[in-house]
Amino acid sequence: MSDASPDLELIGIDKAFAGAPVVRDMSLAVRPGEFLALLGPSGSGKSTLLKLIAGFEAPDRGVVRLQGQDMAGVPPWRRNVNTVFQSYALFPHMTVFDNIAYGLRRKGVAKPEIARRVAAMLRLVALEDFGPRMPETLSGGEQQRVAMARALVNRPAVLLLDEPLSALDLKIRRRMQLELKRIHQEVGTTFIHVTHDQEEALVLADRIAVLRAGRCEQIGSGEAIYGAPASRFVADFIGQTN
Ligand code: ADP
Ligand code: MG
Repeated sequence: MSDASPDLELIGIDKAFAGAPVVRDMSLAVRPGEFLALLGPSGSGKSTLLKLIAGFEAPDRGVVRLQGQDMAGVPPWRRNVNTVFQSYALFPHMTVFDNIAYGLRRKGVAKPEIARRVAAMLRLVALEDFGPRMPETLSGGEQQRVAMARALVNRPAVLLLDEPLSALDLKIRRRMQLELKRIHQEVGTTFIHVTHDQEEALVLADRIAVLRAGRCEQIGSGEAIYGAPASRFVADFIGQTN
């Protein structure tokens, strides 16, 4: 991987809710174009970490730096980051096309440019003919691909994915993992993907950060972590079979 300066840096982040620490002394650097998985059990602070990056929460201590810029005080809509959530949260009363075009229209992008970019996104997620459809007529996997298209259309530097495949059936989930990997390779955007499924992390990620109770227990390639887990916790977690 390149030694370009990191797209995203977390430096000594702490976050507590009502006195209960949820993220503890978290430091991470993510390279441009990297696919990083945040892997950990439920309650380990994964979603909170994404909210700190996206700006929906503010850290109690530490720095979030995006493309070299300190994000303190920068609201979510001014950060070059988008999030895809587990529930697809498409606008139910809008067509697929309008769902994807929504953010571009709000920014005042010209109509032909919107048409071009939405078409490119529909191609990217292999839903070329789905523009006129309503969300309720799509399968879960299709809806999640529309959500990805909507999140990528304004070309964020970093895409945050919070368990985007967890609501899907196992068979569809495995197919969507391959789809996600292909999309990442095509767009070259930095992906930070939260999951509690170690197999998913191993399939998808360049590197995996294993979280336990708000701390990073180990970070490295899947092979490195699988081959030499840093603790009993990591060994147990990465060795699970679903
Ligand atoms: P994960 O995504 O790994 O399951 P979360 O980041 O959602 O973990 O939550 C970590 C812990 O923080 C949990 O114990 C959760 O209840 C708590 N938590 C998260 N958000 C809030 C909040 N807004 N207020 C109070 N507690 C919260
Ligand atoms: Mg979560």
